[in-house]
Amino acid sequence: MTIHYKDLGLVNTKVMLQMAIEGGYAVPAYNFNNMEQLQAVIRGCVETDSPVILQISRGARKYANQTMLRYMAMGAVQMMKEMGGDIPIVVHLDHGDTYEVCVDCIQNGFSSVMIDGSHLPYEENIALTQRVVEYAHQFEVSVEGELGVLAGIEEDIAAEHSSYTQPDEVEDFTKRTDVDSLAISIGTSHGAYKFKVKPGEEPPPLHFDILEEVEKRLPGFPIVLHGASSVVPEYIEMINRYGGHMEGAVGVSEDQLRRAARSAVCKINIDSDCRLAITAAVRRVLAENPGEFDPRKYLGPGRDELTKLVRHKNEVVLGSAGHGREIMAAVRK
Ligand SMILES: [Zn+2]
Repeated sequence: MTIHYKDLGLVNTKVMLQMAIEGGYAVPAYNFNNMEQLQAVIRGCVETDSPVILQISRGARKYANQTMLRYMAMGAVQMMKEMGGDIPIVVHLDHGDTYEVCVDCIQNGFSSVMIDGSHLPYEENIALTQRVVEYAHQFEVSVEGELGVLAGIEEDIAAEHSSYTQPDEVEDFTKRTDVDSLAISIGTSHGAYKFKVKPGEEPPPLHFDILEEVEKRLPGFPIVLHGASSVVPEYIEMINRYGGHMEGAVGVSEDQLRRAARSAVCKINIDSDCRLAITAAVRRVLAENPGEFDPRKYLGPGRDELTKLVRHKNEVVLGSAGHGREIMAAVRK
């Protein structure tokens, strides 16, 4: 039996990404694995009237159970409405690796999937992506493809070196596959250790020259940035102060992300920062209250810290705040 995303109150990415390009901002894509993360993301996005893409990785599906996740997404839509919000919510598969997992997600109510064939030879990436698009578009589900490989660790996929997107491939790839958005590699990286820099040194800038080349060849086409956490230094400092050990963790500066959000980059993925916010708050509570054993007493502050981070990203970094209702109005037309 197939559950269609519209019956869950979700939307696909089509209208929101187009409006984000035209408006010069980016839609946040936050990963979640549990209730507290989902509540924080929804709360932060309703409070800032921001569109949101809820990302579920294959690891999250394994961790939380796919049926549970579907009901959580339904709960998230209801919670959003009860809060008085009217924001578009997408449920998206992050880094789908096979045709079968994409089909399974689409049949279970996802409104968007990523098929990541970026590690495959070019023609195989095209063939796999084409198959997924053909299936997904029957149900108006959006598909994100990828060209170029990011360095870093994405769950079980680890790449030591990145290979940047080659701008001369993007036209052919998007035309032949008919994907709705394209993830590119311009120097971002997965995980909390994105760049090897000495203390006090700035991380290297993103390759905006590649992005500009891609934009020239694909005017108005939705571009996606993965591995775009800032690895917020305050959280690293907090984690280390309260018993953690994360030396040398560093991410993409907020200035770089703001610059990207003003371009054709209209979806920015944020996972590591969300993990860091919760971990920093939980470590502080447990270090200050060694006798505490009620999960609400430490997960609650973790959730509050994540809500704060989501508001900050939407308002200050991505610029998505204040655009939720207008996108919903356009979707309903
Ligand atoms: Zn990714």
